[in-house]
Amino acid sequence: MVSVREEDYLKNIYEITKTKKLAKTREIARKMRVSDASVSEIIAKLKEKGLVIKEPYKEIRLTKKGEEIAKDTIKKHETVERFLSDVLKIKRDAHREAEKLEHIISKKSLEKMCVFSDLKNMLLKY
Ligand SMILES: [Zn+2]
Repeated sequence: MVSVREEDYLKNIYEITKTKKLAKTREIARKMRVSDASVSEIIAKLKEKGLVIKEPYKEIRLTKKGEEIAKDTIKKHETVERFLSDVLKIKRDAHREAEKLEHIISKKSLEKMCVFSDLKNMLLKY
């Protein structure tokens, strides 16, 4: 099982590596506003779970499985945030709430949000 905190790390590492290819401990720490020690601690756990590759004194990369989880979490965040802001018209807190819901929302609820959002768009169009 991957914890909420670990999912957030995978997400942030993915975002860093998307532009720079490799993530440094310091960059992850800065982006997530945590200490270098916290990053090292979580990275060790993620490595144990086969989600990141980290060789001594080298930068951090996601494994295929780690990247899948990162992308999945980002997709959930986007879907929830869009649903909250576009359908429910919750603007101010949509991002903050999506940040939490991305970790706990079920596949079924997500699917229903997508279907509902699309239907709503169609209704608005015609
Ligand atoms: Zn999150």
